Amino acid sequence: MRYEMVVGLEVHIELSTESKMFCDCSAKFGGEANTHVCPVCLGMPGVLPVPNKKAIDYAMRASLALNCQIAPFTKFDRKNYHYPDMPKDYQISQYDKPIGSNGYVVIRTDKGDRRIGIRRLHMEEDTGKSLHEGVAAGSLLDFNRAGVPLIEIVSEPDIRTAEEARLYLQKIRTIMLYTGVSDVKMEEGSMRCDANISLRPEGSSEFGTLVEIKNMNSFRSVQRALEYEAARQQSVLESGGRIVRETRHWDEGRGVTFSSRSKEEAHDYRYFPDPDLVPLEINQEWVDEVRRALPELPDQRFRRYVEEYNLPAYDARVLVEDLALAGFFDEAVAAGANPKAASNWIMVDLQGLLKGEGKSISEVKIKPSHLTQLIDLIEKATISGKIAKDVLVEVCFTGKDPESVVKEKGLVQITDESALIKAAEEVLAANPGPVEDYRKGKKNAIGFLVGQLMKATRGKANPGLANDILRKLLDGSV
Ligand SMILES: [Zn+2]
Repeated sequence: MRYEMVVGLEVHIELSTESKMFCDCSAKFGGEANTHVCPVCLGMPGVLPVPNKKAIDYAMRASLALNCQIAPFTKFDRKNYHYPDMPKDYQISQYDKPIGSNGYVVIRTDKGDRRIGIRRLHMEEDTGKSLHEGVAAGSLLDFNRAGVPLIEIVSEPDIRTAEEARLYLQKIRTIMLYTGVSDVKMEEGSMRCDANISLRPEGSSEFGTLVEIKNMNSFRSVQRALEYEAARQQSVLESGGRIVRETRHWDEGRGVTFSSRSKEEAHDYRYFPDPDLVPLEINQEWVDEVRRALPELPDQRFRRYVEEYNLPAYDARVLVEDLALAGFFDEAVAAGANPKAASNWIMVDLQGLLKGEGKSISEVKIKPSHLTQLIDLIEKATISGKIAKDVLVEVCFTGKDPESVVKEKGLVQITDESALIKAAEEVLAANPGPVEDYRKGKKNAIGFLVGQLMKATRGKANPGLANDILRKLLDGSV
């Protein structure tokens, strides 16, 4: 029997507001332990939380970017459970009235576009952190993160492969980066993901027993964990066993999931509306205001690149997925660069250089206007494309503008015919073999001779002119 994987993902994203969700403490990542705290986020008795307007705006912006509907009436609820890093013994979250619902994102798979539903997006606050490493006995608690605004994005169980799960997460991350509501760094925990996975016989419409997987710290570990877990469940089912509803943790080092606690015994959170927080009424005006402030999103930018600039879909996708690179491209085009040429330079030479150096575009000195100027120098035939590659490297490391580099290094292309004729005659004299081949009818021997002429001029000969002159000399028409 063939089985189909059914996956739903829960993604937590920390919003990059200045202050926390319900108090004035800094929401900044890190800091000395317990320095971003106050009675509110420490959950002292008698304190009163006040919602952060910016966090609500961000949650709405994220909802709209994920094509969600915004609830006209929403509220905060207490989710009751005990955990050492949460002194209140409840987390403020949203239960039955999430701020966003019924959205979707589109992912591009090998088999075409797939639409993954977003069931809900709700607001909540983060918990503190327990520190075990380097602690002799017991653990230490750091509440700097307690109360930092979070959104939780819950997908529909629409994901069918581990690869789709990774693509979905990457898409969510890119969209969040575009909206600017979070820095979405998995390594710093500002983006976290839990997965629900079950198997069912292919063609069946019923759902199998769900297993939750936690502790996946990268897109790659999500993909690996799902692949492992699907294989594990399949072998249980094939040997006549039964899947237990449970939470399992991913062990990155060993590449396995292991059971941590059985879900059946657990969670009754006894949600109830937080009596300290008034419900929120969100009118159309507020929604419109947030919608108007939405920046261009990845799918829109992709369409613009393909439809307005005629970029190949592959190029457009690579640019769009890297916000900094796309911004660089847009600025170069705005400064007058030909879009296709700019895209080629970024995709091939610039990306190659960045990969080789292990740097991002902001860590090298080239500016978008430099690229525009470089392309202009090629178009005006001041330099050859080959020389331009060296100029690009120089600009990246020194930050000098391409024109200065060309002048300083004497790289201006030789377009003076008489100078080239002299060099071409020398090349012909030095290569009697290919010359003879050409004259006997092997016309493509000219390629070698052009190469030699380029070499003799250290790449500065205009290639078209070099070709013309050699041909004329060989055919005896000069
Ligand atoms: Zn506080």
